Amino acid sequence: MKQLAGKRALITGSLRGIGFGIAEVFAREGAEVVLHGLGDEASISAATSRIKELGAPKVEVFTHDLRDSKAIELLMSDVLASGAIDILVNNAGIQHTAPTAEMPPEKWDEIIAINLSSAFHTMRVALPKMAERGFGRVINIASVHGLVASVAKAPYVAAKHGLVGMTKVVALEYANVGSRESGGVTINAICPGWVETALIESQIQVRADKFGGDRNQGIADLLSEKQPSKRLSVPSDIGEIALWLCSNATHNVTGTSIPVDGGWTAQ
Ligand code: NAD
Repeated sequence: MKQLAGKRALITGSLRGIGFGIAEVFAREGAEVVLHGLGDEASISAATSRIKELGAPKVEVFTHDLRDSKAIELLMSDVLASGAIDILVNNAGIQHTAPTAEMPPEKWDEIIAINLSSAFHTMRVALPKMAERGFGRVINIASVHGLVASVAKAPYVAAKHGLVGMTKVVALEYANVGSRESGGVTINAICPGWVETALIESQIQVRADKFGGDRNQGIADLLSEKQPSKRLSVPSDIGEIALWLCSNATHNVTGTSIPVDGGWTAQ
C-alpha cells in the first residue's frame, strides 16, 4: 500500500529544487500532486510528466505569483475548487545576499512576501478545512537560517525566523484537533542547511571563483565554514523527511523545527 494513496498535496514552488524533490517522493507514494511555481511551458510540461510517471494519480499545475496576496487567495480558491487538500507544503522561497546597508529595499519586500507572508496566506485558508476532516499536514520549508543567522542575509534570516515562529503559533492553535486514529492536524518546519539547488548556485559560484572556477572546491569551501558533515543535502532527502511528517504516527509531532543541517546548529 502506498503511504499517500487517497491524499492530495499542494507544494508551493515545486517546479524545481526542493519542492520538486518533495513532489517526486509524494508521487511515488501515490498522492495526487498539485505543483506550483513560476516556470515556462517546457519546465511545466517536464515536471508534470515526471510526476505522473512516478505514480501520482492526478497532477495539476498552478503558476500564481506569491508576491501578491490577492494572487495567493486566488491560488487557494482555484486549488480548493477541485477538491480538499490533505497536505500543504509551503516551500517557495528566494534569496538575495548583501550587507544590510546595501540590501535593495525591494528585495526585502519580495523575500518577506514569498518566504514568510505566503505561508500565512495559504495556511489561513487551508487549515480550517483540514480541521473539519481531523487530518492535515502543513510542512513549512524554513531553513537553518530560521534558527541561526549569517551575515548579508537580513531579509532571508528575518523571514525564516518568522516562519519558524509562525509554525509554533499555528501548531498550538490546531494541536487538539482530531484524534490519534484520524492523524490530527500538525504544523512543522523543516530547516535545511545547504541543499544542492539553483537557489545556492550564485553562492557556490562566488566560492568557486576563489579556486579558479573549480565548482567542487567551491562547494567544499562553503560546507567547511558551517556544515560539519561536509555533505550537501539533495532535494529527495528533504522529500523523505516530509513524507515521514505525513504519516499518522507523527500525530504528536507538531510545532517542531527539524534541522537537516549536518550538525550546523549543534555547534
Ligand atoms: P529553487 O530556486 O530551486 O526553487 C524555488 C521555487 O520557488 C521555484 O519553483 C520558484 O518557481 C518558486 N518561486 C520563487 N518565487 C516565486 C514567486 N514569486 N511566486 C511563486 N513561486 C515562486 O530553490 P530551493 O533551493 O528549492 O528552495 C526551496 C525552499 O527551500 C526555499 O524556501 C528556500 O529558502 C529553502 N531552503 C533552501 C536551501 C538550499 O540550500 N537550497 C536551504 C535551506 C532552505
